[in-house]
Amino acid sequence: MEITLVQGDITQQQVDAIVNAANSSLLGGGGVDGAIHRKGGPEILAECRALRAGHYGGGLPAGQAVATTAGRLQARWVVHTVGPVYDRARGQELAGVLASCYRESLRVADGLGARTIAFPAVSTGVYRWPMEGAARIALGTVREAGGALRSIQEARFVLFDGEAFGVFQRVWHELL
Ligand code: ADP
Repeated sequence: MEITLVQGDITQQQVDAIVNAANSSLLGGGGVDGAIHRKGGPEILAECRALRAGHYGGGLPAGQAVATTAGRLQARWVVHTVGPVYDRARGQELAGVLASCYRESLRVADGLGARTIAFPAVSTGVYRWPMEGAARIALGTVREAGGALRSIQEARFVLFDGEAFGVFQRVWHELL
């Protein structure tokens, strides 16, 4: 599995699965979540509501992932995952939850047969995770999980602005 980094808008990516940095309600929010629902249309929200009415009555817990249709997006699936809200006092424990977001998203997408998957920098927006630490967890976790996957050939990190892209590039080169 190849790991690639691009700067751009995740809703524009031509990949099989797009990961959404959702909140646990699954009913929409700002940031990436808002952009995905706006461009993907009401079908995505309809499936999210159905998930809430069924298995995820209490919401999707942080660190877990679940797939829906991607509606009008070019992708086939949106994989919703809920990142942890940053709290320095609980850094170690929450790092494990953030890593789990990436591992579970890969597992769900791989199980669906996705060959390509795009990730945003989960938890680095409204959830305030410092970019560098988030990049280390994201890149390290995806690289480690890559070996055990069946169908995914490319995991693409899509960084919204130049600063985030620069941080991810630097961290990736440090990990190599
Ligand atoms: P969280 O609540 O997990 O922090 P956010 O959506 O607030 O999620 O932010 C996560 C990251 O996604 C931030 O770095 C933000 O700049 C970035 N982002 C926002 N919109 C997009 C987009 N359309 N494509 C890719 N990344 C985006």
